[in-house]
Amino acid sequence: MASARKGHKSFKPLLVVASITFPILIIFYVTHQNSIFDIFQDVNLMIEGFHNTTTNISESVVNKDAKNNTFEDEKNDKKLFGGLLVSSFDEASCISRFQSYLYRRPSPYKPSEYLISRLRNYESLHQSCGPHTKSYNEIIREGANFSKAGVDSKCKYLVWTAIEGLGNRMISLVSTFLYAILTDRVLLVRFENDMLDLFCEPFPNSSWLLPKNSTYWNDLRQFKTCENVFENNKENNSHTVLFLDLMNNNVRVTNRFHCDQNQDLLQNIPVVILRSNEYFVPSLFLTSSFRQEFNKMFPDKDTTFHLLGRYLFHPSNVVWKRIQNVYDSHLAKENERIGLQIRIYNTRQTPEETIINETISCLQQNKLLPQLNIQSSMSLNLEKNTSKAVLVVSLYSRYGERLKSIYENNTSLSREVVKVYQPSHEEHQNSGDNIHNIKAWSEIYLLGLCDALITSPTSTFGYVAHSLGGMKPLVLQSIYGRTIPNLPCQRLKYMEPCFHDPPNYDCTTNTNVDFTSLFNLRRCEDQSRGMKIINS
Ligand code: GDP
Repeated sequence: MASARKGHKSFKPLLVVASITFPILIIFYVTHQNSIFDIFQDVNLMIEGFHNTTTNISESVVNKDAKNNTFEDEKNDKKLFGGLLVSSFDEASCISRFQSYLYRRPSPYKPSEYLISRLRNYESLHQSCGPHTKSYNEIIREGANFSKAGVDSKCKYLVWTAIEGLGNRMISLVSTFLYAILTDRVLLVRFENDMLDLFCEPFPNSSWLLPKNSTYWNDLRQFKTCENVFENNKENNSHTVLFLDLMNNNVRVTNRFHCDQNQDLLQNIPVVILRSNEYFVPSLFLTSSFRQEFNKMFPDKDTTFHLLGRYLFHPSNVVWKRIQNVYDSHLAKENERIGLQIRIYNTRQTPEETIINETISCLQQNKLLPQLNIQSSMSLNLEKNTSKAVLVVSLYSRYGERLKSIYENNTSLSREVVKVYQPSHEEHQNSGDNIHNIKAWSEIYLLGLCDALITSPTSTFGYVAHSLGGMKPLVLQSIYGRTIPNLPCQRLKYMEPCFHDPPNYDCTTNTNVDFTSLFNLRRCEDQSRGMKIINS
């Protein structure tokens, strides 16, 4: 009853409007020869206009709402990275997923429509085959003893295992994810406690963690390796699981992984356990049966890690808090932020002062930091005071301390204020430790938030930082002894990480080949034996 009365009440103003406007429109029609259809449109607009005034929605409010909508859409687009990400996650479980756009500069690199559709397809496959589904229970929980014959072939799995430092792990994980997409396998990760606090779940309504009660957590030596299968070019039909070891020193498997006939053999194996310390994406491009899909997903090949990395790696709430604290307290207020990664593999080989001098030389030659006014404390230049922050990321405290004392105890010729900050100095690599990895991941991420970046050669830690940040950094030259090269650093031409030890085997001719002279592949700028995928 009540709603009927309400309906009658709201109908009354419409009748009033119609009785006034209809005669006016008829006269208008006669004089302007409008079609009857136009008249009804006009009536509609007038009624809408009247309705708006009677309900007190002023024109300015309507416009403001429209503007807000565009703003909301844009914000969502930035948040969701042009459709790369989906919105169906609970914000509290992964704050960085919803807030990172406030800290990162917008990426100029957009995902292709095809990549977006492959990701959505992958997500639904993961949801229907992931942990605790029927297929998962049959194949993964029960483990290697299941019978291949009775298994739903829709669900095949790729189990990633961790090895070496976080940078190596992240480049190999992105490569493994792309391999999973290309082979319609479900990616499950063997994360020990040292990895559990780093990332949010990347796939909606499911988990990528291999549950601890699965037999695929067993010692890797227990599983049959791909080596024999590849070399004999024959698959024993009863294999339910194979161990694919793509470590840099496993040349025999790395060399034959990209052969189509070997991919055909792997296709029939329900579970593949993969281990690698490499960015083996170029091998996937080399595999001719994958190439067309690869090209469709990544028309701009230099964005492969950037897009897949931003899809997969969202800092956990613990890591995000650390990133925010460092950024808000030390970087946000400065006019410019310069990220500086100093990765020293052998501290005894290169004296600290040589590295500092090379770094300062790189910073000054590239006009990232001003020259110092060593002779006089009086300022010589009248440029206005601007401040720059240098974020030093290193295992060792001495680099940050030294740069801090140099820049904070001397005035600069340009009167710019330079503040140096190093968030941690672990002194030793300790990749099996949770807190250590939390620091490493937050620093990798922070480097990618800077406006300019200098990294160390061949470091996968640096590769992840620049590629996630969407940057082509300046890379310091390797130093041997005490001599600083004339060119202390050079800018990377390409954003992709380097595949340090790529294959050199031609599957069709059974001979060695240098792939960097073919296809969209080049030698890495910082490692001549390495290989990178580029745009042609
Ligand atoms: P790569 O060895 O330079 O290729 O990089 P990885 O990330 O694979 O391995 C180095 C590991 O050492 C990192 O994952 C960290 O655990 C640690 N590490 C190296 N440099 C730094 C640094 O600057 N900051 C922090 N917090 N950890 C570092």
